[in-house]
Amino acid sequence: MSIKLGIIGGGQLAWMMGDAAKKLGVELIVQTPSQNDPAVSIAKDSIFAAVDDAAATEILATKCDIITFENEFVNLAALSQLEKKGVCFRPQLAALAPLLDKYEQRCYLRDLGLPVPQFFALPGEKDIESKIADLGFPVVLKARRHGYDGQGTFIIPDFSALSKIINHSNTQFLVEEFVPFTKELAIIAARSVNGEIVIYPAVETFQEEQVCRWVIAPAIITKEQNLEIEAIAHKLLNSLQYIGVLGIELFLTADGKILVNEIAPRTHNSGHFSLDACETSQFEQHLRAVSSLPLNNSILHCSSAVMVNLLGYENCQSDYQKQRQQLADIPQSTVHWYGKTEARPGRKLGHITVLLEQDNRDAVKHIIHQIESIWYPPEKISQNFP
Ligand code: ADP
Repeated sequence: MSIKLGIIGGGQLAWMMGDAAKKLGVELIVQTPSQNDPAVSIAKDSIFAAVDDAAATEILATKCDIITFENEFVNLAALSQLEKKGVCFRPQLAALAPLLDKYEQRCYLRDLGLPVPQFFALPGEKDIESKIADLGFPVVLKARRHGYDGQGTFIIPDFSALSKIINHSNTQFLVEEFVPFTKELAIIAARSVNGEIVIYPAVETFQEEQVCRWVIAPAIITKEQNLEIEAIAHKLLNSLQYIGVLGIELFLTADGKILVNEIAPRTHNSGHFSLDACETSQFEQHLRAVSSLPLNNSILHCSSAVMVNLLGYENCQSDYQKQRQQLADIPQSTVHWYGKTEARPGRKLGHITVLLEQDNRDAVKHIIHQIESIWYPPEKISQNFP
C-alpha cells in the first residue's frame, strides 16, 4: 500500500518532490494557500489554507499517514496539540522547535559547541551600545521569525540606521557580527528513522542582496574543511534526532575558519543541483527519510555542476518561453520551471542546472555568465562572477 504523505507548503520545494514521490509510490497531499502554487499540480489532493493554519493541518492529518514540511513558518504550539493526539510529523516537532526562531537557533548551535558568529537578541539586551561596540559596525540585523531570501535581513552601517529600523518596528531581532567571508558554503544532510546519515557534497553559494544567485558543486575547500563541515552536520542531526533533509549554510573566513550561518529544516535551494547531478536528489532523500525507507547514495555523477536561479526581475505574467528555450539549448543543461503564474522582482521562478565533465572554474564562470545573459536584461546581470 502506498504511503500518503502530507506536506505543509506547496511551493517549488514540494513540487520538486513530485517525480521522486511517483518513483517511490508516495502519494502527496499539500496544504498551501493558493490553487496556483506549484505543488498543487503534482499533488493527489490539496487543502487550500495558510501554512500556519493548524485547523487545516488537522484535516490534512485525516488524509495522510505522515506530515512533513517544505515551509517552516508554522504554528508549532498549535501543531503540538495535534502531535499529542497522535499525528506523526517528520521531522518531529521537537526537532523543529529549536530552529524556527533565528535567535533560538543560534543559541542551540552555540550550546552544541558549533562555531557561530557572535550574536545577541534585540530587544533583550540591556547594554546595547557596548554589545554593538564589541561587534563593531556593520552589524547584521535579522528578524527572528519569518525571514527568507533576505526578507527581514539588514546590513546596518551605523547607530542611526539601527535606530531607524528598531524604532519603527515591533519586530524581534537577532543582531550579529558582519562576517567578511571569502566564501559562502552549504551542505545538505539527511537522517533516517534508524539514525543513518547521508551527506551531500559541500557547495559554494553566491548571494546578491541576500538572495541566492547560483551554486557551484562541489566546493573548492580543503579536506579538513570538508571533514569539519561533515562533523557539524552529524553533530546537529544526531543532537536533534532529526528525520528528513536539512540544509546548513556556512561562512568560510579568510583564515580558513568555518562558521554556521543558518539551518533550514527542509530541502534547500543549495541542494537543487542534486536533482540532475547526484545519484539521489535531496527531494527523493527527504521522502525516503520521512517514509522510513533506507537512504540512498548522494554522490555526484559528474565532475561538477552549476545551478543558477531564475529570479524574477519585473512584475509580469509571462511564462518566458523564449528565454527558457534558449537556456534548454545549453549543452548538459536541465531547466526546472516552477510554473508560477506571476513574476515579481527577486521571486524564484525556476532554476537551471548544467553538468560539467571537468571541475574547471573558467568554464563555470562562462556558463553562469551565459545563463544570466540569456535570462536577465543587461542591467540585471551580475557583475560579481567567481
Ligand atoms: P535568509 O534566511 O533571509 O536567507 P540568511 O541568514 O541566510 O537569511 O542571510 C542571507 C544572506 O545575507 C547570506 O547568505 C549572506 O550573504 C548575508 N549574510 C547573512 N548574515 C551575514 C553575516 N553575519 N555577515 C555577512 N553576511 C551575512
